[in-house]
Amino acid sequence: MPKIKKVIKEVIKTVRTQSELGVQTGPWKAAGHKIGLVPTMGALHAGHMALVHQAKKVCDKVCVTLFVNPTQFGPGEDFNSYPRDEEKDRAMLQDAGADILYAPSVGEMYPDGTTASLSAGELGSVLEGAFRPGHFDGVATVVERLFSHTNPHAAFFGEKDYQQLQVIKQMTLRQKTPVEIIGVPTVRGTDGLALSSRNEYLSESERGIAPVLYQTISGVADGFAGGQPSAELIAAAVEKLGLAGFDPVDYVAVVDAKNLKPLELFSPDTPARVLAAAKLGRARLIDNIAVTAP
Ligand code: AMP
Repeated sequence: MPKIKKVIKEVIKTVRTQSELGVQTGPWKAAGHKIGLVPTMGALHAGHMALVHQAKKVCDKVCVTLFVNPTQFGPGEDFNSYPRDEEKDRAMLQDAGADILYAPSVGEMYPDGTTASLSAGELGSVLEGAFRPGHFDGVATVVERLFSHTNPHAAFFGEKDYQQLQVIKQMTLRQKTPVEIIGVPTVRGTDGLALSSRNEYLSESERGIAPVLYQTISGVADGFAGGQPSAELIAAAVEKLGLAGFDPVDYVAVVDAKNLKPLELFSPDTPARVLAAAKLGRARLIDNIAVTAP
């Protein structure tokens, strides 16, 4: 008779302080396990789960952090109204097989007050950084603290936040942080809209319009790969987004995929990326796509 294997899922443990976290991760480290870190601000969706799945593939233990980081929000931004649902997040993480949830308080992360103590450097001042001054200093600060609390071997970030991924890669190189930074492709809805916690802000009619952002940057990427100058493509894209109802369109940019400097014309030797940010109703959407050679 075939044996029936009973799978009992362990309940994911939630810890809230650096010392409680150390109690959990210490024995893993002593046992030589590879620890993967997935930093999030919660309101989890399938995009976040892709990071957890990737982490599970290449690490022995996966620590997910849930922290809505005040230092990466500017004045007048949505820090207070950012969606929070820890119970739902925990259930999703348990299903995905994460090993531990670290959900620290603001005081635990910022015992000396909520100011960013690290600079994101040059990469942090363009594109998103130009529209959200100080945003990437806040990101760099919290990521560095999460690294020091967790001591992971690898950390997983979505390409959805492409500039953030580059800022963190550069920061770890600059500081010689011994953490491997792994980028995970953007998870999209069937209509192309990148999944985002902020999509909850969209009304039903805005949700119908939102995929135009992805369609537009895809068109820019194709045109650029086909030899059209970026300036023409960007002007047409801004107009298209405005006509669809995006207001304002903060930027559409075609940049060098590594240093984020603007590119005029396609070259097969220079990997390029199209990035855009625009507001639709209450939601400020960002998206990006690689330029692939024809
Ligand atoms: P957040 O909770 O928005 O700070 O995101 C936490 C991590 O999930 C970041 O590394 C994001 O880039 C990543 N992420 C968010 N949305 C997606 C998505 N649609 N696909 C892949 N990764 C994502």
